[in-house]
Amino acid sequence: MLHNLGSINLDHFYRVPHLVHPGETLASHGYHVGLGGKGANQSLAMAMAGGQVSHWGRLGRQDAWARDRLARAGVDVSHVELVDEPSGHAIIQVDERGENTIILHPGANHGFTRRHRDALCEAAQPGDWLLVQNECNGLPELLECARQHGLEIAFNPAPMSDTVLTLPLEACRLLFVNRGEAAWLTGLPESSEARVLLEALHERLPRTATVITLGSEGAWYQSADERHYQPALPVEAQDTTGAGDTFIGYFMAALQEGQSITGCLAFATQAAALGVQRPGAADSIPSRDEVKQLLTSHSPRPNP
Ligand code: ATP
Repeated sequence: MLHNLGSINLDHFYRVPHLVHPGETLASHGYHVGLGGKGANQSLAMAMAGGQVSHWGRLGRQDAWARDRLARAGVDVSHVELVDEPSGHAIIQVDERGENTIILHPGANHGFTRRHRDALCEAAQPGDWLLVQNECNGLPELLECARQHGLEIAFNPAPMSDTVLTLPLEACRLLFVNRGEAAWLTGLPESSEARVLLEALHERLPRTATVITLGSEGAWYQSADERHYQPALPVEAQDTTGAGDTFIGYFMAALQEGQSITGCLAFATQAAALGVQRPGAADSIPSRDEVKQLLTSHSPRPNP
């Protein structure tokens, strides 16, 4: 079982003729609400990939449908707590040209307590995986507690912030970063070659394996004794929101199944390639059957 302590967000999308001006009241001509949050997306992706995942989260009582959605996909939601606080949510205006503005309120995602961390560590067996992103509070204590209990930590430091630099990252067995996050962690320019970023991360965290995802340029894996490059599939991307989450969920499911690292990279890449051809984040995550059916006739791109 993998335990994912992560955010659950509700994304409220409002279609507007233009982005609202200061002091203006503007009628919206379209509205929908979607499930989001990197934590929820990654749990959903892992379950859809056939993995065993237990989500540790907090959600406003009135939004129980989001927990039900995770449960229907096969996520163990017995540790998703319904609370008398607003759920984490985003208010997103989208205008006629596709421009947007976003207000993000962490809400219940920032209400984790020591009780949660202790309960998680007690529920987990030494050697179980713990997956974490950077959208919930209490990460320093969580990583320490997990390390003391012998959990294998996979960390996706997104969205990146300076506090990540103060975390005990050496406690992580696996790190998932995109180019911007790798640059932030290493202090190198974002324009640096992927190999340079990988080397610098390896030097800083020699016992932590790293996956760097590079959008349409694919992904690299580096550990103490292995390095692999996996090209992306050459597809027509429609919406890349959540591509990283789909990738991580599928990678962890393949790892749990006992696939090789190259197998994990290929599975994750195929899933993410399907996801970017569809709109939305959680809604774009493909099923395991769809990924398995994906034709493997795509020609790989050269190394970046
Ligand atoms: P997000 O924050 O939107 O979830 P990210 O920045 O964490 O994304 P990316 O590096 O953009 O993650 O993408 C993750 C993986 O998704 C890539 O390694 C690749 O396999 C796939 N991917 C992303 N964009 C494309 C694309 N345009 N074409 C094909 N595959 C893509």
